[in-house]
Amino acid sequence: MRNVQPEVFLIARPQINYDAVAAYLREVGGTNWLERLDRGDLHNDALNLAEFAGRLCYRSWEPRLNPNVTRVRSDQDAYLQNILSSAHGSVLEHVNFSFALHNISRVTTHELVRHRPGVAISQESLRFVRLTDIPFWFPDWALADDELMRRATSLLEQLEQFQLWMADHFGLDAQGVPFHEKKQKTSFMRRFAPDGVATGMLWTANIRTLRHTIEARTDPGAEEEIRLLFGMIAELMRVEAPALFGDYTVQDGAWIPRWRKV
Ligand SMILES: Cc1cc2nc3c(=O)[nH]c(=O)nc-3n(C[C@H](O)[C@H](O)[C@H](O)COP(=O)(O)OP(=O)(O)OC[C@H]3O[C@@H](n4cnc5c(N)ncnc54)[C@H](O)[C@@H]3O)c2cc1C
Repeated sequence: MRNVQPEVFLIARPQINYDAVAAYLREVGGTNWLERLDRGDLHNDALNLAEFAGRLCYRSWEPRLNPNVTRVRSDQDAYLQNILSSAHGSVLEHVNFSFALHNISRVTTHELVRHRPGVAISQESLRFVRLTDIPFWFPDWALADDELMRRATSLLEQLEQFQLWMADHFGLDAQGVPFHEKKQKTSFMRRFAPDGVATGMLWTANIRTLRHTIEARTDPGAEEEIRLLFGMIAELMRVEAPALFGDYTVQDGAWIPRWRKV
């Protein structure tokens, strides 16, 4: 039994091809927008992509390109705040981030996959990946309970020993065992792993989905491991895209947005 901590690695974020953006803006007459980049008014690729998507909708790169638009906001924070307050959330769907979620339990992965729109998921396959031990996260209150830990550790060690016994019993490491047989037996063996076994997932989500899942999964009613996980994701996102995550207040670990369901 291995005592582990859930971890979040932000492994991918948006990157804009500014040459292509410039070529597009020359076509539509909005190159002033790029001059703001040189002045440092545009902050990072994630925020710039959200702003680009919004401005494309109204051709609001500068006043009068669209005769209906006589004024444009030139402050990015104010522009994006208006996107949030007016619930023009579809523009946020272009902005995706990928997180390697490490040492999260099957309890948590099962809850996470319930969130459907705006995500991509690749989950470690315990049909292919054979368990050689049982990595497990314990909350602090459990760690502080000596008798609970003694019994839990003993049970997990027994399950771990059973995994090793089965692998040996099925002769999985013998020469020439066909892969389909290893897969069949490994899949059978995983049934004897607890729901709390730590595993991993690559989870990609757009900002609209991130805002919704951060709120839902840090709520006091949510399960404690997923609350911990989404607290970490929320902290990362506030650094990555402050203008789109700066409206939250945090109370006892719950991230409460000023604008819900954008
Ligand atoms: C505290 C808590 C307790 C829970 N307990 C249980 C439980 O006991 N049993 C259980 O089965 N689940 C439970 N869940 C899971 C919950 O029911 C949802 O499936 C999960 O939170 C996904 O969130 P979501 O419904 O907002 O959907 P998401 O997939 O995250 O979708 C985001 C939003 O898109 C819209 N949307 C998505 N799909 C559709 C659709 N098909 N039709 C219309 N609108 C759509 C909705 O507005 C939705 O809120 C619980 C969740 C929480 C946070």
